[in-house]
Amino acid sequence: MRKLLYIAGIIVMAACQACSSGETSMPKANASPTINSATKVAENLKNLKFDYPKDPKCGAALSEGVGDTTEYKGKLYGFCSKECKDEFLKSPESFLSRIAIP
Ligand SMILES: [Zn+2]
Repeated sequence: MRKLLYIAGIIVMAACQACSSGETSMPKANASPTINSATKVAENLKNLKFDYPKDPKCGAALSEGVGDTTEYKGKLYGFCSKECKDEFLKSPESFLSRIAIP
C-alpha cells in the first residue's frame, strides 16, 4: 500500500511538472484573460507613471501598492487608499506644499 502511494505521488509530481512547463511556453497574451480583474487593475496601477512616488497624504511608498489615483493640475498622484485621496482632494495645495515635486 505504501509503495502504491509513493508511485501515485511520483505520477502527480510528473503531471505537475508537465503542466507548469506547458504554461511557461504559452504566450502571455493567452494567459491574461484568466487573471481576475482586480489583480489586473492592481497591475495596471503599478505600471502607471506617477509624478510623485509616494502617497502625498500619508507618505506611503506607491511601490507597496496603489489604492486610488487622481490627477491634479496635470500631474498624476497615487494613494494607498481612497480615504487618502479624499483627504488630499479637500485641500491639494496644502499637501503639495509639504512635498517637493521636481
Ligand atoms: Zn495613504
